[in-house]
Amino acid sequence: MAYEAVIGLECHIQLATRTKMFCECPVEFGAAPNTNVCPVCLGLPGALPVTNRAAIDAALRLGLALGCDVRAESVFARKNYFYPDMPKNYQISQYDRPLCEGGTLPVVMAGEERRFALTRIHAEEDTGKSFHPERLGDRKISRVDFNRAGVPLLELVTEPVLREASECAAFLTALRRLVRWLGISDADMEKGQLRCDANVSIRPPGQTTLGTKTEIKNLNSIKGVEKGIVAEIARQTAVLESGGRIEQATLLYDADHDKLAIMRSKEFAHDYRYFPEPDLPTLVTSDAWRADARVRLPELPWVREERLIADYALPPYDAAVLTEERDLSDYFEELARGVPPKTASNWLMTEGLRHMKENGWDVEGWRLRMPVGAFATLVQKVEAGELTGTLAKQALATALQEGAAIDAVLARPEFQVRSSSDDLLPLVRAVVAEHPGPVSQYRSGKLQTIGFLVGQVMKMSNGQAVPQTVKQLLESELARLE
Ligand SMILES: [Zn+2]
Repeated sequence: MAYEAVIGLECHIQLATRTKMFCECPVEFGAAPNTNVCPVCLGLPGALPVTNRAAIDAALRLGLALGCDVRAESVFARKNYFYPDMPKNYQISQYDRPLCEGGTLPVVMAGEERRFALTRIHAEEDTGKSFHPERLGDRKISRVDFNRAGVPLLELVTEPVLREASECAAFLTALRRLVRWLGISDADMEKGQLRCDANVSIRPPGQTTLGTKTEIKNLNSIKGVEKGIVAEIARQTAVLESGGRIEQATLLYDADHDKLAIMRSKEFAHDYRYFPEPDLPTLVTSDAWRADARVRLPELPWVREERLIADYALPPYDAAVLTEERDLSDYFEELARGVPPKTASNWLMTEGLRHMKENGWDVEGWRLRMPVGAFATLVQKVEAGELTGTLAKQALATALQEGAAIDAVLARPEFQVRSSSDDLLPLVRAVVAEHPGPVSQYRSGKLQTIGFLVGQVMKMSNGQAVPQTVKQLLESELARLE
């Protein structure tokens, strides 16, 4: 029997604040272990937490961007459990009065916008990190690094509205784009800055009650999320089809070996003995603060994506690529002031993104080497027929490689176009003489053979000939042979 899957996601977003959630320790990836710690984040007796306003401001902006209801007064709660990488034996989180509730994340899938409903977003602190087991001589040892303990986290929980693994991957991709767009997190999944747990259950189609769910923990890549959910749906289907029952459980997914392992039976909320955090006051976000946070929101990525389609008549695919990053859409819109939009999009998406990828540059790195004005000049010359596409691409590569200005490169003799008939006619005649086969095909009516001959002349001219001129010269030369 085919089953329908019901999936909810819990996403943890590490905030790119300067300091931790409740102390002044720096937030820094890759620092020497246990160097960014203090009495507060180590949970030493008598140390008192103070809420990081920048982290709450980031949470507000995310909540407002997603259309959540933001609570004017929310409450931090202690979540009690024992874990070796959590020095206090409790985590400061939010429970029954979280900062944000409701809202939706718009996700464009196959050209169609869908909105996935959210349950809540709450603020909390991250735990430390364990490394185990390692071998030290003949002993097995575990290590723990508390640098991450107390790093600001947002937990975003969806309603169980996702049905397919591919939707979950699209959801996470859209969430990652949004938090980077807002500048609140680098959301690098490999560094654990964006993590995802998935709650999965299955049911026969048409059934409205939910099946027993399992939770897959700590999925750390978008591909891993998708594959892990596919594996868990298959596992649950096999259990039900062999007459078994799904047990509530927490699972780990090993993406390298495509294997699920049952980690522990799932805790229930009452196991955590939540109670309001006595060391922190009620978290108050004033009307003024919320209004100000709303004003500081940039144009949101899905709004900009729609606008690029409407204002520049771009195909949806181009708009999606160009709004993957805010810097990239900024660069595009600046370029489109001097170059026809679709041409600007083509050059940026092919040549621009290729050079960025090959050199490991972000958009800012690209902009430093290729300011919008310089790139526009290059493309305008091609548009005006003063430069061939091939030459322009070579000039661009040369300028980037040498760190030279594009104008200086374009002034070199090898980047001048050759458009005079006197100059090109000898090349045309040589190509006609060298390729009797295609020439006779052309003369017997296969007119598309001209493309091959033009290509040969272009090659002989090192890409400097103007293709339209070459084509005209070839046509009259071939007509002359009659
Ligand atoms: Zn600290």
